[in-house]
This record gives sequence, C-alpha cells and structure tokens, in this order.
Amino acid sequence: MTSTNSTRFAIIGGGIAGASLAYRLAEALGSGKDIKVFEREDRPGYHSTGRSAAVYTETYGPPIIRALTAGSRHFFDHPPKGFAAHELLHPLGLLLAGTEDARTQAEKIYADCRALTPNVSFLEGTAISDLVPVLKPEWTAVGVLEPDAMSMDVAALHEGYLRGFKEMDGKIIIDAEIMGIERSSHGWKLDTKAGQWTAEIVINAAGAWADEVATLAQLSPLGLIPKRRTAIVFQAPDDLPETGWPMVNDVQETFYFKPDAGRILASPEEETPMPPCDVQPDELDIAITVDRLQTATTFDIKRIDNSWAGLRSFFSDGVPCAGFDAAQDNFFWLAGQGGYGITTSDALARLSVSILLGQEIPGDLNDIGVNAAELDPGRFIPPSA
Ligand SMILES: Cc1cc2nc3c(=O)[nH]c(=O)nc-3n(C[C@H](O)[C@H](O)[C@H](O)COP(=O)(O)OP(=O)(O)OC[C@H]3O[C@@H](n4cnc5c(N)ncnc54)[C@H](O)[C@@H]3O)c2cc1C
Repeated sequence: MTSTNSTRFAIIGGGIAGASLAYRLAEALGSGKDIKVFEREDRPGYHSTGRSAAVYTETYGPPIIRALTAGSRHFFDHPPKGFAAHELLHPLGLLLAGTEDARTQAEKIYADCRALTPNVSFLEGTAISDLVPVLKPEWTAVGVLEPDAMSMDVAALHEGYLRGFKEMDGKIIIDAEIMGIERSSHGWKLDTKAGQWTAEIVINAAGAWADEVATLAQLSPLGLIPKRRTAIVFQAPDDLPETGWPMVNDVQETFYFKPDAGRILASPEEETPMPPCDVQPDELDIAITVDRLQTATTFDIKRIDNSWAGLRSFFSDGVPCAGFDAAQDNFFWLAGQGGYGITTSDALARLSVSILLGQEIPGDLNDIGVNAAELDPGRFIPPSA
C-alpha cells in the first residue's frame, strides 16, 4: 500500500510564477514547511522561464502589467543579502522605433507611459540614428526611449527564489507531474508521479498547462492560449560599441533585437497559438526574423548561432489571473503572464500571497493602481441569466 503525504499549500509548477510565489508565501508564513512545489520536469526552469528574452521594461503591455512590473523593481534592485551572487538587473535601455506609419501609435505609447515612467522621451530622426546607427533611415522616423529598461539575470532570479524557499524549509519535488486532482474532505487529493499527496489549497502555476491542470480538478478552463515566440542569436557587427545599443523594439511589434554578450538576440515577435508543449522554433519564423532585421537595419546576418522558441500564455484580455477559482475557494490561479512573467513576478507573488492569506493588498501596489479585482479569475465566468 502506498502512503499519502500531506501539505497545506501545493504549488503546481516550478517556473518563475511558482518559484516567486513559494518564496514570498514562505516569507509571509515565517516558514516554507507547509508549502510544496510540484514540478513535472527535472529542471524547474525548463519551459517558458528558461526561454525568455530577459528584459525588464515598464513600457510594455497593458497598464496593469506595467504597474506590476514597476511594483517588482524594488525587489530586483534590492534583493535580500545572499539572494543572488550578482546584480539581477543590468543597464540596457529600450528604444521603441518605427517608421512614419507608426507615429500615432508611438505618441500614444509615450503619453500612456509617462505617468508611471516619467523619464521616457520621444525621439525623431538623428536622435534615433545616433543612438542605434544600424537602423535604416526610414526606421528612425519616431521613437520612444526608456533609458531605465534593464537586462535581467533570469536564471539568478529564479534560482534565488527557489534557494530562498528551500532555506525557509520549503520543498521542491521534481519529476512530479500532477496527473490527477480530486476533491476530498480536507481539500484535495493529488495523484503525482512522486506519489499520493493531500493539500488544503492547490495553486495552479502550471504556465501554458494551467487550463489542463484546472480540468484535472474538474474545474472550468479559463481560455488560456499559449502562443509560440521564437528567438535567434547571431554574431554582432564589428561596430557594436562596447557599451552596446539599447534594445530596439519595433513600435508595431514585428521584430526586436538587443545586444547580448557580444552577440545580437532577436525575435520576429510572432504569436502563434498552439497547445501546451515543449515548443521548438520553426524554420520559417527564423527566416522571417532575418528578413525583417535585414529590411530595417544594416545587419548582414550570415549565420545563426542559436535559436529557440517558448510559449507566452494569454487569457483573452491579456491580463493574468491571480486569485481563487470562482467555483472552488481552495483552488488558486496564478497564470496567463504572457510575455511579462519575469518582470511582474515579485509584485504578482506578493499580491497573490495577500489574497491567499486574506490580507490587504500590499500598500505600494495599491498606490500604483494595482487592483486585485482586475486579476480575478471570476471575470471569465459569464453572468447568470
Ligand atoms: C521568447 C520569449 C521571450 C520572453 N521574454 C520575456 C521578457 O523579456 N520578460 C518577461 O518578463 N517575460 C518574458 N517572456 C515570458 C516569460 O518567459 C513567461 O511569462 C514566464 O516564464 C512564465 O512563467 P511560468 O512559471 O508561468 O511558466 P513556466 O516557466 O512554463 O513554468 C510552468 C511550469 O509548470 C510545470 N507544469 C505544467 N504542468 C504540470 C503538471 N501537471 N505537474 C507538474 N508541473 C507542471 C511545467 O513543467 C513548467 O516548468 C518571454 C517568453 C518567451 C517565450
């Protein structure tokens, strides 16, 4: 007969969402002993978390995302002593650049972002080409510069959360796919590849698989759509200055590129819907990336050094869910972070802890306009007739 283990909180998924929540929840409880993280793979960062472009920007995404990003910055700048061996953020800068066609859109982004990020500036012409000389003249018509955008050490952040959680007596169980979730008198019975468990509260931080995990628990999926995004890396041109250029993101989101340790990381910014899987790059997307970059810049890309793809998972309104399921008050969703799961991780984790423990939302998040209702999974339940 197999024995059953028990825990108070079972977090499903050990990516950045599960790891940050485990860390902040253990901190709030004064210990991680009542929290278990179940990760299907033998490496918690194997899926989206290990495949990001590692950029911190406050000018990207809907307003709630920008607020959650800004609300995470303090932690990234000032993590506790010993959290990481090096700084988590490194100067990068971000230039949203566009042709004349993108002027109205660029002006709107500039106006929208100034309240939260006052030092963004609007650039045109030579102010853009001086900054990024590889851009062809038609691509220097309009630009929005965010000088404080940063490169992130995602691996160090993710490891810091996991290590900190373990140091607070939390446990991460790898090779532990959750295969069944059943209601029980005390909460939930979990059938995992690492044995049987019971949990009072299940936290669904399963990334692209979040709807599948809800279905295992006989709950309604919320319409999460995983979307493939490809990245390539190639040799930087010889005239890349030592200080690099800022990252360049097309205002209309058809490509981005950024200096990355002497090379260039680029993406065609595609959003191809697909079922959750171990997604691989498509040759056509790689060719499209090269073509778009060679159209907008003077890059002459002769060889691709590396390429990969990952899933960015979105709900229909582009806003994540952080809150209890409308039908089960002991099933918590932390999913749908799209292309912003790393930058929003600390604020989303702190907000989630406050909801899980029935506390007020953190004051600093409230002050910048984060409203828990906006992230409530219940928003997808149709109103009753
Ligand atoms: C190309 C690309 C560039 C990106 N750039 C950025 C960026 O610059 N900045 C930014 O903030 N974000 C970026 N993102 C988005 C970011 O990577 C994601 O938002 C984030 O990693 C999502 O984290 P997660 O923990 O929800 O998902 P994941 O990292 O995918 O983790 C979910 C985990 O759940 C596990 N799991 C699933 N089902 C089960 C189960 N049944 N049992 C046990 N475990 C299970 C999976 O194995 C997985 O490890 C980018 C993404 C891509 C693809």
